[in-house]
Amino acid sequence: MKILVSNDDGYRADGIRALANALKDLGTVTVVAPDRNRSGASNSLTLDMPLRVHETEPDVFCVQGTPTDCVHLAISGLFDARPDMVVSGINDGANLGDDVLYSGTVAAAMEGRFLGLPTLAVSLCTGETSGRHFATGARVARMLVGRLLAHPLEREMILNVNIPDRPFEQLRGLRTTRLGKRHPAEPVIEARDQRNRVVYWIGPAGAGADAGEGTDFQAVADGFVSVTPLLIDLTRYSALATVQDWVAKAGLHG
Ligand code: MN
Repeated sequence: MKILVSNDDGYRADGIRALANALKDLGTVTVVAPDRNRSGASNSLTLDMPLRVHETEPDVFCVQGTPTDCVHLAISGLFDARPDMVVSGINDGANLGDDVLYSGTVAAAMEGRFLGLPTLAVSLCTGETSGRHFATGARVARMLVGRLLAHPLEREMILNVNIPDRPFEQLRGLRTTRLGKRHPAEPVIEARDQRNRVVYWIGPAGAGADAGEGTDFQAVADGFVSVTPLLIDLTRYSALATVQDWVAKAGLHG
């Protein structure tokens, strides 16, 4: 069993170290991760410059690129053999609801969707006052990967896992969830650079707007590990008939 581990926080992050260590007895673990924090990189590929790879220690490769670059490289030619599955994380921060659109953690998992086994994106819901319990996240990830090996789900399955930031014994269980929704993000933050020119920082994500029954937000708030199966197909099937009618009436040549 060859397990590829990646993330978006960079190869030196605490979360990826904890994850790689936790999975070691389940298979051969190889880490391919960005050389620095690329959180928010989403599914971006670097096409305007070559990718440089450095093996920083045995089986740990850092890439001057995005999380998607890392997984793409690892399954498309960096190694002689492709991995069987990708596990991404453990992210330092939640990836709930709309976060999955921006998340490099989720993107890394998505890039491994064509491999033989489902992929996992694992995030620890850290906050300013929580303890950053990556050991908890690692134990949960190990348990879920072990279960996938013993009882595989279908291929191209992506599981987005969010774990409350607390000691393992204080987790209340696992819950299968749907994505909730966030309120719009906070406004951008205006600042001045050293030359007194105006610059902007992207503001924090909005609070949970649909954080109700069945959502990932609620599961985590209740102290449960949230497991959301994700769909890649963005087609809005429920609108096909409406749009078909709308398009038919528009007519291309009047
Ligand atoms: Mn991150």
